[in-house]
Amino acid sequence: MGLCVDIRKQVAGFALDVTWDIGAELAVLFGYSGSGKSMTLQCLAGLSTPDSGRIDCDGEVLFDSARRVNRAPQRRPFGYVTQGCTLFPHMTVQRNIAYALKGVPARDRVSRIAEVVDALQLHGLEHRLPGQLAGGQKQRAQLARALVREPRALLLDEPFSALDTPVRVEMRQVVREVCERFRLPVVLVTHDLYEAYTMADRMIVYSGSGDVQVGSPCELFKSPATPEIETLLTSERLFMLE
Ligand code: ADP
Ligand code: MG
Repeated sequence: MGLCVDIRKQVAGFALDVTWDIGAELAVLFGYSGSGKSMTLQCLAGLSTPDSGRIDCDGEVLFDSARRVNRAPQRRPFGYVTQGCTLFPHMTVQRNIAYALKGVPARDRVSRIAEVVDALQLHGLEHRLPGQLAGGQKQRAQLARALVREPRALLLDEPFSALDTPVRVEMRQVVREVCERFRLPVVLVTHDLYEAYTMADRMIVYSGSGDVQVGSPCELFKSPATPEIETLLTSERLFMLE
């Protein structure tokens, strides 16, 4: 069970070649800017197609170049949230969330919306438009919309990087709670080393020159696989790059 990724993709000036798998845990995908973190999530979400390899979730194959499987993005069981806001500006929070439930029987919608409103602490904000929400509230609404479809994994590409520090701290807690409550694999991309160390059950580290190391923050800190990964995981500079 969980998420298994084994993909390769070449674009001008960059080659992605990564293999990792995670269970129902909070996995932080960490690495330098340009190391292929976003490209990996886009391949998982089906927005970009690997040249070769395989992606499966809970044993279900979503992409397999050898067998010519390439599931369309809307048919992949993932919630995908990025830094930007993709809520419909003319719809309330509640209608934005409900929009994701097209095709779900009406009797199930109410309870599913209530559950995500509760999990993301959106009580009292249901009837606001996105323009009437603060940055953290927008991200919580986007997470709610992603979760209401009952995905089998959450893909979060630097969802907090545009937020002020106090709100980021609050959002870290929200994501931890979501991971535990819904028992989902969560892949959280960050280039914030502090965020990575404090949030991760497991870290997936992209060295930038093709190496990938996976382990608990403690394991990685104690035994980095390459000098490059060691530098990446101990660099004070990274705290100041944001
Ligand atoms: P990260 O999210 O780790 O900062 P990205 O996955 O966005 O890195 O990008 C990895 C590398 O691939 C970068 O050098 C980027 O410029 C390049 N890249 C990403 N997407 C494309 C694309 N569609 N076409 C060409 N180059 C791309
Ligand atoms: Mg990125």
